[in-house]
Amino acid sequence: MRCPYCSGDNSQVKDSRPTEENAAIRRRRVCPDCGGRFTTFERVQLRELVVVKASGRKVPFEREKLLRSVQIALRKRPVETERIERMVSGIVRQLESMGETEITSRTIGGLVIEALKGLDPVAYVRFASVYRDFREAADFQEILSEIARDGDEPDTATVPGGRAMPAAAKKH
Ligand SMILES: [Zn+2]
Repeated sequence: MRCPYCSGDNSQVKDSRPTEENAAIRRRRVCPDCGGRFTTFERVQLRELVVVKASGRKVPFEREKLLRSVQIALRKRPVETERIERMVSGIVRQLESMGETEITSRTIGGLVIEALKGLDPVAYVRFASVYRDFREAADFQEILSEIARDGDEPDTATVPGGRAMPAAAKKH
């Protein structure tokens, strides 16, 4: 595994242990050339996926890219790395089990939104605002009331006058 700091090819595994409930193996590596330390994860990949962008361009699916965009949405939010990793793995597994090799970025975004909705309301709104390309405050209102509805008991979901912000905030 190439060292991300000096690009040396001699990194050595110092520690290797299962993580994410045995769905992955986490390896701590050290580079003898520069002393840099980094971590890699080994996961099952069921199939090679191709992402079809909105422009029609096709690029290989990369878990790391997906993870990064999720991490941006979750910046400074109180969510453990382990949970984020699990969420991303869950999304990848869903993508892999769709049975299609080509998947639109829109489909991936939709799965991320659904996952974030349960994980962190703030990250959800951040991601949704980008994903849906919302420009108006009214759109945010709509998302916030979606969160509020999801946060309520099913029976009270349609009760009018439920304010979005308190419902979204009460989880923390
Ligand atoms: Zn190095």
